[in-house]
Amino acid sequence: MNIGITSTIPVEVVFAAGHTPCDLNNLFITDPDPNHFIRLAEEAGFPQTTCAWIKGIYGTLRDTSAEKKIDTIIIVSGGDCSNSIALGEILKDDGKRVIPFSYPHAPDAAQMERTIQGLADELGAEADKIKFCKQQLDPIRSRLAELDRLTWQENLVSGEENQLYLVNSSDFNGNPELFSSELEIFLKNLQNRQPLKKKIRLGLAGVPPILSDLYKTLDKLDAAVVFNEVPRQFALPWAPECTLAQQYSRYTYPYQVDQRLLDIEQACVQRQLDGIIHYTQSFCFRQIEDILFKRKLAIPTLTLEADQPGPIDGRTLTRIETFIEMLQG
Ligand code: SF4
Repeated sequence: MNIGITSTIPVEVVFAAGHTPCDLNNLFITDPDPNHFIRLAEEAGFPQTTCAWIKGIYGTLRDTSAEKKIDTIIIVSGGDCSNSIALGEILKDDGKRVIPFSYPHAPDAAQMERTIQGLADELGAEADKIKFCKQQLDPIRSRLAELDRLTWQENLVSGEENQLYLVNSSDFNGNPELFSSELEIFLKNLQNRQPLKKKIRLGLAGVPPILSDLYKTLDKLDAAVVFNEVPRQFALPWAPECTLAQQYSRYTYPYQVDQRLLDIEQACVQRQLDGIIHYTQSFCFRQIEDILFKRKLAIPTLTLEADQPGPIDGRTLTRIETFIEMLQG
């Protein structure tokens, strides 16, 4: 059975229960016409002032073909956003099976263990199978860590490629074996590449941008993204060193912004970043956290906001150009 997920959750448990996780964000944004899903959600009554990711997920579930039909959804009800909770209520009323998954309020491996056990009980996943699935996924996560290293240390992987692989690790495209073999082919082909030479090294913080051409625009401006903050978190590259509960306790995204800022600060030093672009989604509570990004990060930071899927508008482009010129100066 395909199980939809609205954010990163312990997919090891879903695989162990014999199901296929399907990240609904990826399904929405990779569609040739993602705005169609937003229109479907608005027709169903979602306000225009709701985050486009939430509307996109809802529209995707309304419109999915029989082949990909998803009737069970794991909603992250703690550690994501209140929009997700409301989305879960609507989906339940629509007749879907909604399984809430709530990260502990603060990182705590013991509490996380109980939370993971709750999910395992709900899905009927046995402990030895969960352990086996973790052992299957850990080497892939290690290879993703290597891909990330090749991005910032060897300059062999573009920011867009880096983002694509790391984001897709939230569900391993539903098929870890295929994901792994494609990743290995990609890594092998890097041997024939010359390092990318860009004047400016950037970090991209925040939720994955809904903009379709941000990486290409930065590339044209001679700037490389060598740190994708949240996608790297989705990949949990530290997993092989930890138990499953520790692995998801080190994941910064569900917790207070201080831990995310610490992770970003470390990346600034290690990856020798010149600046940070903090992407925020329109109507997202995380826009408020941008105040702390501005207050606490010592590195030049540009905040970008977008609402709908599509290319960068003229005003945003001018702001990016000015920021890059300032960093070059
Ligand atoms: S972008 Fe913000 S509002 Fe939208 S789903 Fe993510 S956390 Fe929630």
